Amino acid sequence: MIPFNQTRIVCTIGPATETKDMMRKLIVAGMDVMRLNFSHSFYEEHRERLDTLEALNEELGTNVGSLLDTKGPEIRTHHFKDGKATIEVGSTVEIHMDEILGDSSKFSVNYPRLYQDVKVGGIIVVDDGYLSLKITDVDKEKRIITTTAFNTHTIKDRRGINVPGIELSLEFISKKDKADLEWACDNGIDFIAASFVRRKSDVEAVKSVVSNYCGRYIPIIAKIENQEGVNNIEEIIDVADGIMIARGDLGVEVPPEEVPVIQKDIIARCHARGKVTITATQMLESMQENPKPTRAEVSDVANSILDGTDATMLSGESAIGRYPVESVNVMRNIAKRMEREVKRIEWINRANQSPQKDIASNIAMSASHAVLQGQADIIIAPSVSGITARLLSKNRPDTMVLALVPDAQKARALALHHGIKAIPFHLGTDTEDLIKRAIEFVKKEKFAAEGSRVIITGGFPLGTRTNSLRIMDI
Ligand code: PEP
Repeated sequence: MIPFNQTRIVCTIGPATETKDMMRKLIVAGMDVMRLNFSHSFYEEHRERLDTLEALNEELGTNVGSLLDTKGPEIRTHHFKDGKATIEVGSTVEIHMDEILGDSSKFSVNYPRLYQDVKVGGIIVVDDGYLSLKITDVDKEKRIITTTAFNTHTIKDRRGINVPGIELSLEFISKKDKADLEWACDNGIDFIAASFVRRKSDVEAVKSVVSNYCGRYIPIIAKIENQEGVNNIEEIIDVADGIMIARGDLGVEVPPEEVPVIQKDIIARCHARGKVTITATQMLESMQENPKPTRAEVSDVANSILDGTDATMLSGESAIGRYPVESVNVMRNIAKRMEREVKRIEWINRANQSPQKDIASNIAMSASHAVLQGQADIIIAPSVSGITARLLSKNRPDTMVLALVPDAQKARALALHHGIKAIPFHLGTDTEDLIKRAIEFVKKEKFAAEGSRVIITGGFPLGTRTNSLRIMDI
């Protein structure tokens, strides 16, 4: 039996999990969305992972979604001699714009204009914040930045570089990103996570590439990873379909103690607006090496769930870690436990804080109140577009929202939304017949037992805006 998670689980797939056997184990443990990180790997590898997912969705009858995470305007080091170098505290380290093989005193980066953007006295942070370098000189002729290391750290190939507080003149959509977005269209990707979004126009630029190339709509999840993105969060939420709180880069670009505050703020804002949130990075970091998480990691995942995130995400834990399946199990168990602690009424109120005048929002709110009062064991939401299910998800009812949608693509498009189980279903045109078949299906699949009370809600006749709510004993 595939577990049903109210809080969704996103797993980054990498060398540790790309085989069919491992991916099957992840799905059986509770993976809802597979993340393909386009900062790494080639098209062939990503295509193979998608083929594997498609085959498993078919075999297991699941609708696990796919998310392409763009490389975005990120800066990385090039390679090091022997794949790594130890940089000692106090040592002088040169950063070259022309590609060289790095060692303990020098390395190069993939952004040749970096020397133009930085200033003497500024800080360059390498490898997720594990190495900090103070800029002591910028040689504009030789295009070399000279720095002094604040600490000792062994750095490996292709590590990330951050320059906190500096607005880099890096173009938002590189040639690679554009090609990757087109690849997403051609390869049936369900969600795009756009890296390093700083303002509304960044999301619009991604949307424009996708809409000019694709025949279909792909939801865009804006990754917030620096102060500018945080400052412009309202306008970004306006245009994006969701937000990823990309705490890895964010915790390097802003003081780390700000990250929990930003996380809570973004989740609350998105919830009130009906946009999805993914809380990402280092959630179970130590499980890359150990079969059990630290207590602090358990608390971190738990708190994101209490904050109301739609999804939690695994990065290295599932891509390269030694315990990917155990990590999903741990995440699922924390979610199950926390979902019992949540103050549902506060979530319903947060979802409806601005006056809801439309019928659809009122119906979604009423359905959640009915569940809260113990009046229903499941909500069935037949929906052509998935909108009814999304509105219900916003209200976070403490039960399964079974979205019956016309096809598998529409089902996968709901894979990130809190509390929804989406299944392709023949909807037909006759409302009474649909309701009868839906109830038979729910009983047959044991989503609700004989004698339970169910809510059926949707836009009837099908295709109209959500306008009906029925509570029935089955
Ligand atoms: C992050 O920085 O937290 C993140 C999710 O982005 P990436 O893994 O692409 O660096």
